[in-house]
Amino acid sequence: MANVKTHTFDAVIVGAGGAGLMAALYASKSANVAVISKLYPTRSHTGAAQGGIGAALGNMEEDRWEWHAYDTVKGSDYLADQDAVDVLCKEAVDTVIELEHMGLPFDRYPNGTISQRRFGGHTNNDTGKPVQRACHAADRTGHMILQTLYQQCIKNKVNFFDEFHVVDLIRVDNTVRGIVAIEISTGDFHVFHSKAVHFATGGWGRCWEVTSNAHSLTGDGAAICLRRGVPLEDMEFFQFHPTGIFRLGVLITEGVRGEGGVLINSKGERFMEKYAPTIKDLASRDVVSRAIFLEVQAGRGINGQNYVHLDIRPETVNHYFEQAGEKRRIDREYIEAKLPDIADFTRTYLGVDPVTEPMPVQPTAHYAMGGIPTDVDGRVLANVDGTLIDGLYAAGECACVSVHGANRLGTNSLVDLVVFGRRSGNHMAAYCNQADLLPLPDDPAGEVMAEFERLRNGSGGVKPAELRTKMQKSMTANVGVFRTEETMGTAVSDLKELIEAYERNVQIDDKGQKFNTDLLEAWELGCLLELAEVTAVSAKARKESRGGHARDDFQKRNDADWLKHTFYFRTEDGGYRLDYKPVTLGRYEPKERVY
Ligand SMILES: Cc1cc2nc3c(=O)[nH]c(=O)nc-3n(C[C@H](O)[C@H](O)[C@H](O)COP(=O)(O)OP(=O)(O)OC[C@H]3O[C@@H](n4cnc5c(N)ncnc54)[C@H](O)[C@@H]3O)c2cc1C
Repeated sequence: MANVKTHTFDAVIVGAGGAGLMAALYASKSANVAVISKLYPTRSHTGAAQGGIGAALGNMEEDRWEWHAYDTVKGSDYLADQDAVDVLCKEAVDTVIELEHMGLPFDRYPNGTISQRRFGGHTNNDTGKPVQRACHAADRTGHMILQTLYQQCIKNKVNFFDEFHVVDLIRVDNTVRGIVAIEISTGDFHVFHSKAVHFATGGWGRCWEVTSNAHSLTGDGAAICLRRGVPLEDMEFFQFHPTGIFRLGVLITEGVRGEGGVLINSKGERFMEKYAPTIKDLASRDVVSRAIFLEVQAGRGINGQNYVHLDIRPETVNHYFEQAGEKRRIDREYIEAKLPDIADFTRTYLGVDPVTEPMPVQPTAHYAMGGIPTDVDGRVLANVDGTLIDGLYAAGECACVSVHGANRLGTNSLVDLVVFGRRSGNHMAAYCNQADLLPLPDDPAGEVMAEFERLRNGSGGVKPAELRTKMQKSMTANVGVFRTEETMGTAVSDLKELIEAYERNVQIDDKGQKFNTDLLEAWELGCLLELAEVTAVSAKARKESRGGHARDDFQKRNDADWLKHTFYFRTEDGGYRLDYKPVTLGRYEPKERVY
């Protein structure tokens, strides 16, 4: 048995992306905080975010946070909780200014204010036309946020445990006592004993074959919570971003369309004019992904294949600007300045220069709208009645507040990280100031250590990579942009088989202690399989189409029966139970979405 070391802190934050670092920055103002991350903090996926962070600053044209709120609710297909959306959009404004004051190098207008560009679904509510709301630092906005927050955390002396992989939550009844982690370099187990635990572990796009998500996005935090009796909310809603690089899934930011880029089919048609006459290529992501899928299905994919073109060539863009009566024009210099990473990606991965050639794109699995249910202070809910689990918090992509409902608008994840990271960090610090450190149970790491021994010593001959590929193929084919009862049923039975094989026969090659990534990846696969199953089961149960959940057999949204959040619970016998919670409405009554 490896050694178990014990550490004590007021609060432990799992994850060092935008949400974890913002929570750490605020919690550390009065509490003794540890941030535990399986990656070196600045390698977190937040650093890959390209296009921008939405806030109604109104720097270039009129804008209001209430317009941002309406767009978010409409984008969510009315499933978002409107009280939480108000918090998101109102606090977006001062959090972005706060980031600016921390030193974040935003692009700027000549008058010195933060530069803002258009993004999908963000509109002037009076005209319905796109509004400039996405604050950005070229197409490296997430990178800049992550670096800025990390520097602030270092300045504030936050304790970092880098390359420590968290594998269990220590929960006793409705309280938490800490977490269990493996130090990746040694293979040693560590127990972090604390008053509060905060998950900020990001998404799980790796359940699908074509994804924009980094290899590390395996949903560990959500899976750990589920195993410890926490429900998962709205897991059927997973966003497919319309413009991933064909076959690779690497993201091409919506900022390309925000800067004037258009989608073109094999007939040379700008097909979004047909699907979203007012807002066209800047319709919400669910709408654009479905349009691409339908164009391909109708035989209008490029070269008969399942992709279309994304065109940012100055001659194309300027033609459409002229047609729309807009004065602005773009050129090579503009593209190189506003989209340098995108130009670099397509040149490197495709040999395509976006200034002279269109880019081949297809929808790519991108963002988890669902996750660990929380209130607006990041406190984790134990059930649909709003019972809280004392000391347990979550924020960022792994959490579901819910501000994104059935479909997230571009730029709203980065806002979510900083707004709810800040709120949960503040709340957690206050909680730690009044809460006692409750004792650890006996042998808190025992159960998860036994699971690791099983994985290390498995001899059934089934390789994790084999199971992973099968899961990804089934999820892409059966729980993708369009779904039916039959396809989701296939996914549920595929996953049942894969989970059984994982539990009985999985076998890894590396039996060692140090840097055993083979072992850790096998454990991560367990998380992915579990979340894939939760997604398929929650999706199959929802008999309507809404946002990112589009069914061929129930094509319409059904507010009478389905204007509610799904809660998936793991039961004691390893089965599951579904429950539902009403949506919190507010100023905006659900109506048909027209873009
Ligand atoms: C390519 C790309 C571009 C994007 N562009 C935009 C954009 O322009 N605007 C926008 O709003 N959104 C964008 N998004 C979405 C947004 O970036 C993410 O939703 C967001 O960054 C997630 O942040 P997070 O803090 O929740 O988690 P992440 O940044 O994913 O960080 C997760 C953290 O958890 C840690 N972790 C995970 N599991 C464990 C474990 N078991 N033990 C210890 N540590 C663990 C990791 O080490 C990491 O530090 C983009 C996403 C992608 C993939």
